[in-house]
Amino acid sequence: MKLTSPTEVRALLRSLNFRPGRALGQNFLIDGNILKLLISLADLSLDDVVLEIGPGLGVMTEKLVQRAQGVIAIEKDSTLCGFLKSRFRETTNLELIDGDVLDLDLDEVLASGVSKGVSNLPYAAGSRILVKLGTSQVLPRYILVTLQRDVAQRLAAKPGSKDYGVLSVYTQLDYEVAIEKDVSPSCFMPKPRIWSPIVTLRRGRQSIVQIADGTFLRKLLKWAFSHRRKQLCSLLRHAPHFVAMDVNSINTLFKGLNVNPHARPEALSVAEWGRNVLREEPTAT
Ligand code: SAM
Repeated sequence: MKLTSPTEVRALLRSLNFRPGRALGQNFLIDGNILKLLISLADLSLDDVVLEIGPGLGVMTEKLVQRAQGVIAIEKDSTLCGFLKSRFRETTNLELIDGDVLDLDLDEVLASGVSKGVSNLPYAAGSRILVKLGTSQVLPRYILVTLQRDVAQRLAAKPGSKDYGVLSVYTQLDYEVAIEKDVSPSCFMPKPRIWSPIVTLRRGRQSIVQIADGTFLRKLLKWAFSHRRKQLCSLLRHAPHFVAMDVNSINTLFKGLNVNPHARPEALSVAEWGRNVLREEPTAT
C-alpha cells in the first residue's frame, strides 16, 4: 500500500467507507518528498522511542517503526485506529492507543521513555496538544511537528513582534524553535485551506531556567499578554489576587530582574520572563 499515492489513498478511504472530517483535522499527507524530509528531520536512531499523535492512515508510522526502537501512537478516530491495528498487527514495536491525547495522562505515556515527538498535528487542536506536551513533567528532547501557520509563528516569535506571547515564552524556556519548511496544501488529502509549516523544537542542554512548578508563571504570562499594551509596573499594580503585590515589592522585583518597569510584556525576553522572582508565586499582600 503506497500512502503517498493519491489514487491509492482515495481507494483506501473508499474501502473503509471513511470520509475525513474537519473537526479532527483529518488531512492526510500524500507527498513522498515531504514524508522523506520529515523522516530525515526526525533523525531517528534505534535508541529512540517516538510518540506520534494522530497517526491517521499510518503514512509516517510505517517509517517510524522501521527506524526507532519503539513507537507509541495515539489516534482519536476509532475507525482509523481499527484500520491501523489490523495494518500493523505484526509490528511488535508499535503501541497503538485508541483515544484523545487531550484526555490522556500524557505524563504516564512520556515517562515510559519517549525521547522524541513526531506528528503531523490536527489543525483544530494543534496548539492545545503542544501546550499539553510542553507542560508535561517529562519533556521529550526533540519535537517535530507540522501544524497551522499562525501557531508556528507564535511558537517561534521573538520579543517585540506581534506574535510573541504566552506560547512563545513558555515553549522557548525549554526549546529552541525553528520553522524548517512551509508545506503546500496540495501535499495533503483533502487539501487544507492553509499552508502548514514543519517546526522543530530542540531542547538545549539545559532549560533557560529551572522551573519547579510552572503554574504561576503560566498564569502570570497569560494575564500579562492579555493586556499587552500596558506597562509592566501598571500591570502588576492592578494584577488579580495571584500576583497582588504592593508598590515596594514591585520595585524590588524590577530591580532584581534589571527590567525597565515601563516596558510592555512583549519587550521582555524569554530569559527575563523566566528569571528569578517570577518563577515563584510572590506572597500576596
Ligand atoms: N499522521 C497522519 C498523516 O500525516 O497523514 C494524519 C495527520 S492528520 C493532520 C491528524 C490526525 O490526528 C488524524 O488522524 C486525526 O484523526 C487525529 N486526531 C485529531 N485530534 C486528535 C486528538 N485529540 N487525539 C489524537 N488524535 C487526534
